[in-house]
Amino acid sequence: MKFYTKKISSNPDFYYFPFSKKTKDIFLEINLKTGSAQETAQEAGLGHLLEHYLIGSLSKNKKSETLEYDGEVFKEQTNYCLKSSKKKILIDSDYFFNAILNPDFSNKKTFISEKDSVLNELSGKINSSDEQGYKIIFKERFLNDCQYARIKTEEYKNIKDKKIKDIEDYYKKYFIKSNILITLSGYNLDKKIINEISKSIKKYNISSGKIKFEQQNCQVSRFKIVSVKNNIIKKDIAVLLTFSFLGSKKLKPWQKIAQDAVCEMLSSSRMGIFDDLRNAGIYKLDYENFIWKNNGIIIFATILPKNKIKAFLNIFVKKIKEIKSGLILSKNLKKILSKYKNTAKKSFNDNSQRLDWLTYDIITYGKIIPIEEDLKNLKKINIVFIKNLANNLFAKNKLNLILIGKNLKNINKKEIDKILKF
Ligand SMILES: [Zn+2]
Repeated sequence: MKFYTKKISSNPDFYYFPFSKKTKDIFLEINLKTGSAQETAQEAGLGHLLEHYLIGSLSKNKKSETLEYDGEVFKEQTNYCLKSSKKKILIDSDYFFNAILNPDFSNKKTFISEKDSVLNELSGKINSSDEQGYKIIFKERFLNDCQYARIKTEEYKNIKDKKIKDIEDYYKKYFIKSNILITLSGYNLDKKIINEISKSIKKYNISSGKIKFEQQNCQVSRFKIVSVKNNIIKKDIAVLLTFSFLGSKKLKPWQKIAQDAVCEMLSSSRMGIFDDLRNAGIYKLDYENFIWKNNGIIIFATILPKNKIKAFLNIFVKKIKEIKSGLILSKNLKKILSKYKNTAKKSFNDNSQRLDWLTYDIITYGKIIPIEEDLKNLKKINIVFIKNLANNLFAKNKLNLILIGKNLKNINKKEIDKILKF
């Protein structure tokens, strides 16, 4: 099947992404190449509030009653999405563009009710165990005021007293040509539709200019063992090991896959330390990695009875040492890479996943990296490459070991420190 992605017009960039699977749905998306991590301390949470205001204002427009749309602010990307069909897209897109590209900031009622709903949403999240866990991890990992470490509590505090003028200022700063990416996707779309939409973008008076970003101050902490008393874990102890990853600005996409492969080998997957952990009566070791533009962080996490902490760390450290000295089974590495290949192909052939993928590529790398190129580069990931990578990533002086629990008595940090030799 022929597949081509096309840049239709510039300033702001407008792309057509053809879908590979037949569908009646058409998606029109307005993306910002910035998200909550680019916000200054005074702007924390304002992107989210603005998103609610714009979407809320659109829903108050009676003529847009039949429209399907949504908005979301991510760490380094903001997305406004319209779902439509071939028949309706030209009418729907007018309402959608008008609401997002030409907003009216005089609706105080909408502002007040949307601010309420954002504050409610945030206060619900603030007390969740996930949020409390991240709060502890990020505050330990990053020194000073790092935007990546910002948490919902800070957003909540910051937007409480904000006025409608503040979201208008935010809009003026970020909704500029160079920061906007518009995409249209559908199956076999007529050129006429694509060109009409391209033309209608030009009707809007989107401002030019540049965003002045504040210098990010994301220094990461050195080795430490921290214990945090917290009721989120009732009986057992959560053991979290965090290391630093390289951010996506410093990585090629295939190098990101190599980082993932190393994590897979260290987790409780079949190719990782599954058997060893089982034998020690430990059934879970998850990992999560965040790769942002300038920083990355991996979190290995398990929840254990106190008396198993040392056994767990011994197994984990043994595996790190193995990987660092290149003792990797090539059949395991092959399995991980072929698993990746399959998921990549699948998601590339899935309409909505492909849409996310291409958007991410343009926002992160400034261009689309063809999947063939990605897959070809997988050949560069061999045992030597993984060994070198592991030596860079897993240095003891970069580790934070965090223990969270209600009762942390009798945990001997000196003994733990002795185990952590790698
Ligand atoms: Zn929300």
